Amino acid sequence: MKLLNLLLLSASLTFAVSCTNQSPETKKEQATKADQQIKKYECPHHCIAGKTYDNPGKCPVCSRTLAELEIKR
Ligand SMILES: [Zn+2]
Repeated sequence: MKLLNLLLLSASLTFAVSCTNQSPETKKEQATKADQQIKKYECPHHCIAGKTYDNPGKCPVCSRTLAELEIKR
């Protein structure tokens, strides 16, 4: 059981490292291909706590440009 946990941990670590090494363009392509990353947008000032938006745009409260979030399934 402990060994399995270690394997899972090292696998997720490898995944995280390979993700951070990629350029934004590569990430975008992968998202389109695999459809495993959902793009969400959020007010950088968190005007509405926990509120995310499906499309880029501006916060309806403070009119600031929404920041992109990446949510992995
Ligand atoms: Zn806002």
